[in-house]
Amino acid sequence: MPRALITGITGQDGAYLSQLLLSKGYEVFGLLRRSASSEVIDSRLRWLGIAGKVTMLDGNLTDLSSLLRVLEEAKPDEVYNLGAQSFVKTSWTQPLLTGSVTALGVGNMLEAVRLVAPKARFYQASSSEMYGLIQEPIQDEKTPFYPRSPYAVAKLYGHWMTVNYRESFGLHASSGILFNHESPLRGLEFVTRKITDGVARIKLGLADELPLGNLDAKRDWGHARDYVQAMWLMLQQEVPDDYVVATNRTTTVREFCRIAFAHAGLDYEKHVTVNPAFLRPAEVEVLHGNPAKAEAKLGWKPETSLEQMVQEMVDADIKRHQARIAAA
Ligand code: NDP
Ligand code: GDP
Repeated sequence: MPRALITGITGQDGAYLSQLLLSKGYEVFGLLRRSASSEVIDSRLRWLGIAGKVTMLDGNLTDLSSLLRVLEEAKPDEVYNLGAQSFVKTSWTQPLLTGSVTALGVGNMLEAVRLVAPKARFYQASSSEMYGLIQEPIQDEKTPFYPRSPYAVAKLYGHWMTVNYRESFGLHASSGILFNHESPLRGLEFVTRKITDGVARIKLGLADELPLGNLDAKRDWGHARDYVQAMWLMLQQEVPDDYVVATNRTTTVREFCRIAFAHAGLDYEKHVTVNPAFLRPAEVEVLHGNPAKAEAKLGWKPETSLEQMVQEMVDADIKRHQARIAAA
């Protein structure tokens, strides 16, 4: 039975990746950082659909000694490093914490793998945010980076450390440059989930307005369920490498709103307002990825269209709020 260790297992991608690996017969271990309430963790794991199916090991990306111990216990064949302070906006209010976790945390994990599990295959969750101020209209593995937030700067460190440990120590380390990917498990602070949750609340009469920031920003949005497949495929290759994972379609926040509200029979123009509190000190105006290399070398393709994903997210949020109302 192959063994996998996932950091960030309590996040969106950690949940989908766990489900994928379990369905393939892996024994799955997850790095779990301490939180004030084990009750909150338990209910979160249930919501993510992985409670009781994965083995949680206590540790933190900022604590190298905990990572060494976790690797000794898990003895993984594959390590997926998904843990991060992953919200761009928070990286301006907590820039150094973001650096500790999202940048140096990768260095800690790579050091731990090099010292304890050098044969393990390593996946780093890199991000399209690294492209930032766009140098080319459609981005691929050769497009230069120009990070526009402390988050993106931290991700760039993690990306280059992964490349460097591959070249310096021969680790089987791959970096997936994933464009935005969403799902009903996406954090509520990200714009897609904020919109689908807002649609649900407005539809059920719990709210009337949805305040957002920059409606003209464009993102290449795919489904997390499809993107974790690409992560797994990268670690099945004989030779480690870096891959862009994207849909090759870019859409404005405004258009995402239109689709989501229309699915619930609503007109977004009657409900969406612009609140400067949700604007950013520096913006990434447009991301649009070319996944040709992943398609050719990994045989990977996105399966879910933007419209299908938006419908799934809106329906899930309506169901969740209806259940809450019924339970109240
Ligand atoms: P989430 O924000 O949903 O999950 C982040 C995970 O990191 C959580 O499990 C969180 O644990 C964990 N974490 C945070 N700080 C630490 C720490 N100090 N030590 C250990 N674990 C920690 O992110 P996603 O699932 O959406 O994304 C997964 C990865 O992919 C992230 O690295 C993200 O930056 C990257 N990425 C995501 C994209 C996307 O569109 N989703 C696009 C490109 C890259 P806890 O539950 O305790 O907070
Ligand atoms: P990001 O691409 O990782 O920063 O993902 P987000 O979902 O946080 O943001 C995507 C885009 O939506 C960015 O360009 C934001 O500026 C824009 N946006 C517009 N309004 C909002 C909002 O209210 N919340 C968030 N999170 N983003 C918003």
